[in-house]
Amino acid sequence: MQGLMMQQPLLVASLLVHADRHHGDQEIVSRRVEGDIHRYRYRDLAQRARRMANALAALGIEPGERVGTLAWNGYRHMELYFAVSGSGAVLHTLNPRLHVDQLAYIIEHAEDRVVFFDLTFLPLIESIASRVKSPKVFVAMTDREHMEQTCSGSSMLMCYEDLIDLQSDEFDWPLLDENSASSLCYTSGTTGNPKGVLYSHRSTLLHTYAAALPDSLNCSARDVILPVVPMFHVNAWGLPYIACMVGAKLVFPGPALDGQSLYELIETEQVTLSAGVPTVWQGLLSHVAERDGAFSSMRRTIIGGAPCPTAMTVQFQERYDVDVLHAWGMTELSPVGTVCSFKAHQCALSGNDRYAVQAKQGRSVFGIDMKIVDPQGDELAWDGKAAGDLLVRGQWVTRQYFRGDDVSPLRDGWFPTGDVAKIDADGFMQITDRSKDVIKSGGEWISSADIENVACLHPQVTMAVCIAARHPKWDERPLLLVVRQPGSMLTGGELLAFLDGKIAKWWKPDAVIFVESVPLGATGKVLKRQLREQYGNYYL
Ligand code: ADP
Repeated sequence: MQGLMMQQPLLVASLLVHADRHHGDQEIVSRRVEGDIHRYRYRDLAQRARRMANALAALGIEPGERVGTLAWNGYRHMELYFAVSGSGAVLHTLNPRLHVDQLAYIIEHAEDRVVFFDLTFLPLIESIASRVKSPKVFVAMTDREHMEQTCSGSSMLMCYEDLIDLQSDEFDWPLLDENSASSLCYTSGTTGNPKGVLYSHRSTLLHTYAAALPDSLNCSARDVILPVVPMFHVNAWGLPYIACMVGAKLVFPGPALDGQSLYELIETEQVTLSAGVPTVWQGLLSHVAERDGAFSSMRRTIIGGAPCPTAMTVQFQERYDVDVLHAWGMTELSPVGTVCSFKAHQCALSGNDRYAVQAKQGRSVFGIDMKIVDPQGDELAWDGKAAGDLLVRGQWVTRQYFRGDDVSPLRDGWFPTGDVAKIDADGFMQITDRSKDVIKSGGEWISSADIENVACLHPQVTMAVCIAARHPKWDERPLLLVVRQPGSMLTGGELLAFLDGKIAKWWKPDAVIFVESVPLGATGKVLKRQLREQYGNYYL
């Protein structure tokens, strides 16, 4: 027997319509590429998104066609999030930190009809335009005055504000099939060509519900949310959608991601919740420590994309009274998979016991099912000890890459994450490595993540990266690369002595190399492969 409930499709535009009707006065504040601060309300966002939807129709964009964006976090990007997906086209967010060859590849592969860009990226657009055939139109996300100061005339180049100025405020969001595509994001392609993950309206809406929950990212109408994680990287972890759903104030940092600019914004806008990768927070924490500052409103920060070092959690919580919410996800998961929110019986934990839980990537949000398996595919126990390949499935997990030649990445219906993890009896998952980064010494796995985490606890360590280096006797042994605090004279011997008793004896790296910096990829993650190429023969 069928249920007798209404059949309202889950659509991205409905988030905007909701925010307009129920939170129309709520503010959206953006630091612009032009340098100033822009502020308006959800009501204005909705009106301009409708105009943009009309403009896209006038440009001849058909349902299902891809519209690219090369832009920072800001209100115009937010307008495109809703105008493009809401009108039935596919929002394709491009990561400007990728190499120009990769960007050209992605734009061609996706066949973007139009690319919208922030003025910062004009030089990048100029070099891309000469390499690609597909987009006929590029739109500078600015007004006529700024455009004339920056761009030379070209028939392919249009101005965002001109485009919407001409359009009507009226637009009826079409009743789309909820399974139709809404947005597209390519993985950063650290191995092989980048692969496109094509989200649907339904997957995006279900992800938004689940990610907003109290034990997930915990967002509400009383929050002021600062997404530092870029809107070009997995939809800023879904925060633009979540903010509309719950009616939170949004604060967009634009291109200014340095500690000082972020701190200013956090304080002047009274941000309560921020989100970003650990490398960004390092800059913020150093800035605040230098001026002996404090956070007057920020009480929570979501950290993910790479393991959050315990030292960072300690600093946020003990020095600044900001709770760290450690989360794990992937482009292929829209991205939220697990969040480290305490269960009731863990709330009383203190000190190292508490931090040991927070070092974990957390437990599944409803909608994501996970398991760990051995090389034969047999499921491993949730005992906090056994480590194996992490597999997931759920409503917002990809089943096939965009134009992926019908080859499914799935294994018996499960998506292999490429992460190696253990899961404890409470269901808390902890990543020990990426499978391509594991260290196998004498046939046994050593967790580079654990070693890095402990090394970072040393007060003179800014960053620690542990890689597998080839070894004549043990196949591989861990090698620790360390960025010291400025002025530090810390020696390798002292650091290794510090690790004593904190990790298993045989896990202790055989050597420490001090480096000025480590190479970071397009999403702010350490490029271990590059380090292995450079230092992989160190023990030979
Ligand atoms: P990429 O395209 O670089 O793979 P993703 O954002 O999709 O970008 O990366 C997903 C991967 O990032 C995960 O598979 C995992 O290895 C890593 N990752 C994400 N969050 C965490 C976290 N909290 N701790 C450890 N690793 C993480």
